[in-house]
Amino acid sequence: GGAMDTRRRACEAARTSLDRRKSMSNVAPSSPEKLAAGNWKMNGTSADLSILETIIRDLAPEAGAGALICPPATLLSAAAHLSKATPLRIGAQNCHEAATGAHTGDISAEMLRDAGATHVIVGHSERRTDHGETDDAVRAKAEAAQRAGLTAIVCVGETEDEREAGRQIEVVTSQLAGSLPDGATADRTIIAYEPVWAIGTGKAATPADIAEIHGAIRSALSTRFGAQGSAMSLLYGGSVKPANAAEIFAVENVDGALIGGAS
Ligand code: PEP
Repeated sequence: GGAMDTRRRACEAARTSLDRRKSMSNVAPSSPEKLAAGNWKMNGTSADLSILETIIRDLAPEAGAGALICPPATLLSAAAHLSKATPLRIGAQNCHEAATGAHTGDISAEMLRDAGATHVIVGHSERRTDHGETDDAVRAKAEAAQRAGLTAIVCVGETEDEREAGRQIEVVTSQLAGSLPDGATADRTIIAYEPVWAIGTGKAATPADIAEIHGAIRSALSTRFGAQGSAMSLLYGGSVKPANAAEIFAVENVDGALIGGAS
């Protein structure tokens, strides 16, 4: 419907501006990967899978930015099947920290991988809020992702109150320190900065706000993980849409976006 359409256009705008930026610079192999990721949240049934065919058709073969869609778990297998042998990758939105066991209703990272996922979002603010996920819990999930061979997209972001109190850098760097396992590597770790007040509100952070936080994140990552930290992709998320995608991607240390999108 309209929401899916808006989401597809946001993804396209994101990828186009990322491609353009990449073609202007000479990217070294150790540079962070560029990525446009869509988070469908608790939206989508099998009838919505046809949008993936449109996305795949529109993906330029030489695209500088990767494309990832994170549908609900019920659609992972079908989505992975549809995108097989295409550049589109499929991710999950959450995982349990254990590989198997008595955890009714939960899904392990190994199961997500078996269903065809290559990525999993961990610590999204909606899970931190709705399910009380702490930094420790998020770190355990990121470890589980690595154990299963998935790339973890680790989300951090301050609330409106924390920003108003001028605590955004302290909050985000503390979440980052607590949510990342030791030994995290660039090929298995992506950071998504998603200020809580910008998610689904239509009120994106300004380029200056994003530059400040992404700079602080990059510096914390490089300090803790060295070259691996310098090569991790940093996504911005929170009300990214076609109208603001280009200016957000022009910000230093922004390697892509996580787009929930008008759903
Ligand atoms: C998200 O939930 O990851 C997100 C960025 O949402 P939105 O784009 O809707 O603000």
